[in-house]
Amino acid sequence: MNERRVVPELRQALLRWYGARARVLPWRGTQDPYRIALAEVLLQQTRVQQALGYYERFVTRFPTWEALAAAAEGDVLKAWAGAGYYARARRLHAMAREVAQHGMPRTAARLRTLPGVGPYTAAAVASIAFGEPVAVVDGNVRRVLSRLAGVARPAGRWLWEKAEWLLDREHPGRWNQALMELGALVCTPRAPACADCPLGAWCEGKESPEAYPEVRPRKARAVRVAALVLTGPGGTVLVRRDGASLGGLWGVPLAEGGEALVALLAEHGGAAVRRIGQVRHAFTHKRLTVDVYVGCVDTGGADPAGLPLSRLDEKILALAGEHERDSAPSEG
Ligand code: SF4
Repeated sequence: MNERRVVPELRQALLRWYGARARVLPWRGTQDPYRIALAEVLLQQTRVQQALGYYERFVTRFPTWEALAAAAEGDVLKAWAGAGYYARARRLHAMAREVAQHGMPRTAARLRTLPGVGPYTAAAVASIAFGEPVAVVDGNVRRVLSRLAGVARPAGRWLWEKAEWLLDREHPGRWNQALMELGALVCTPRAPACADCPLGAWCEGKESPEAYPEVRPRKARAVRVAALVLTGPGGTVLVRRDGASLGGLWGVPLAEGGEALVALLAEHGGAAVRRIGQVRHAFTHKRLTVDVYVGCVDTGGADPAGLPLSRLDEKILALAGEHERDSAPSEG
């Protein structure tokens, strides 16, 4: 995006588009900070179509900050039922109690002092309800700005600065909603409708929009689990279908959270459960450290030979095989 060309026309083009194409949603067209805050909190982890029903039910049950503040937590959670991520309902409830006691803050800076209110929610409520000229940056805005400027790896600070710079200071609430709406309806993650985009004339990324912003692989999560190699009375290794580490295959029982599995199976015939070592295995989003135990059980299983096993199960059984060879009495 050539900054010299970013002129009032760009803002007018987006606001005109918003006026003509914005979805009619119950939290739009109101200045009521309670309704706006409720919608913003709800939409953090719930899609618009799903949020509609929850929003109506919640606002009917608790129409004001005061009504919400006076409610018991159990009733608040019941009204939130189905929307998920209940921490949001608790945060909103705490926010209501604060507002009922001390009044509604009217600036983003002061809104951020409320429990659980981050920079996005504070800026959204301040700009939409009170007309404060502050920009918002959410996932939709990030995508639109990245494409508009042709910047594949937009840093957090760059995004806030760019959003502030583009902000229509005369209509901040409407502008913020328009930018988010464009990201939701036109500048979508896949197959954006560039031909219908009001910002096409200024967009640096429209030739290959899906290259912006660059999707970086998520860092793999480290997880520690226990695996129990089952052996039959004669010392033969057994696998079970319900023990598969990957659904549908035969395998070795695994349990996240340390030795819970070992303790459980020890109760069911695994009289002599012992740790024989550790294997590591990486999935795309997970790095497993597996503490491997061996236990003799009398509940049955199948010979792993010829059965489809995951790579992880193969590693675990290989360790068990090595251990057995090392501990076998020497023939010499
Ligand atoms: S022209 Fe395409 S890539 Fe650029 S802002 Fe519009 S929809 Fe997004």
